[in-house]
Amino acid sequence: MSTSNPILSGQWNYPTKMIFGAGTLSRLPELCRELGMTKPLLITDAGLRTSDIVENALKIGKDNDMEIGLFTEVKGNPTGKNVDDGVVAYKNGGYDGIIAFGGGSGLDAAKAIALMVGQDRPLWDFEDVGDNWLRVKEDNLAPLLAIPTTSGTGSEVGRASVITNEEAHEKKIIFHPRMLPEIVLADPELTCGLPPHLTAATGLDAFIHCFEAFCAPGYHPMADGIGLEGMRLVAEFLPRAYKDGMDMEARANMLIASSMGATAFQKGLGGVHALAHPLGALYDKHHGLLNAILLPYVMVKNRAAISGKMEYLARILNLPKTDFDAVLSWVLDIRKELKIPNELSDIGLTDDDAIKIGQMAVNDPSAGGNPTILSADEYSSVFLNALNGKM
Ligand SMILES: [Zn+2]
Repeated sequence: MSTSNPILSGQWNYPTKMIFGAGTLSRLPELCRELGMTKPLLITDAGLRTSDIVENALKIGKDNDMEIGLFTEVKGNPTGKNVDDGVVAYKNGGYDGIIAFGGGSGLDAAKAIALMVGQDRPLWDFEDVGDNWLRVKEDNLAPLLAIPTTSGTGSEVGRASVITNEEAHEKKIIFHPRMLPEIVLADPELTCGLPPHLTAATGLDAFIHCFEAFCAPGYHPMADGIGLEGMRLVAEFLPRAYKDGMDMEARANMLIASSMGATAFQKGLGGVHALAHPLGALYDKHHGLLNAILLPYVMVKNRAAISGKMEYLARILNLPKTDFDAVLSWVLDIRKELKIPNELSDIGLTDDDAIKIGQMAVNDPSAGGNPTILSADEYSSVFLNALNGKM
């Protein structure tokens, strides 16, 4: 089935208010005012500082009598220091709202800054453990509007941020329900400049969010349904967006598939993310790329627990056969088509920290969503398999 639809735009209120469609960036000032902002701070990562899309957003503000500040001290894997600096910039500049702009890095940093401008505890006190989120002073969060510029993290519809604690060399998940942006402005035109290798890595991250959510144990048919449709959209449109970045139909469908992934993974993630988080923290590699390399190795480890679900997924993806192996070969094929390396050693990783990585994976919050509970040793051996291409 093709989902060709000439009108790829819409407005809906699920899971938050979303304004979707090419060209919708022009509505930025109006939507900021709707949230009570008169002088917002746009937060994005350093890589986008001088980009046309940031410049364009600032110009749209100016043309509509809205002064928009800019904070770009955000690393690819945003750190606690990035968040602290952003809070200082927000307070010193007298801003009254935050525009979270970018891929996962910019969005996650901005969401954490929106949380932290109103707190007096340190950031790590709000790590997603137990009831820590109840410590948040809820009335003090900055108004928050999100604009995704990649199609992968779906952080624009998420209630958490992944922030690296540099002292501990660990990625921490900072969570509060109100970190879900009040408005998402999703304009697929902003994603057209994403180069093919990032289109591939972020697009497969979106797929893996859907995949791990679908495979996670627990009763959550809404998340399962969103995850399945998200995977079907990625399968149909990611190869097109990769080949032709200006294919607006493909870009639009990838952008919404990305939001669907993050909506679905409220159900849970799994072993791929449990391993990718420590690897990202230790080696500062691209999150989507790590996931894309890891996926088949984790699938094989989980084979017994997910084979029934793979039969169903194979039907949704319209594969010639409907079993685990059909989905596995499809995954291997699309990785090849998108020029994803097959092994972690291909991107410079070594086995030096294999034991530590297993321990970090087992302690990662995503591990709880894996269809079978894996030990630290098992995570270490999956990591070594992925390192050396042992399927
Ligand atoms: Zn991810």
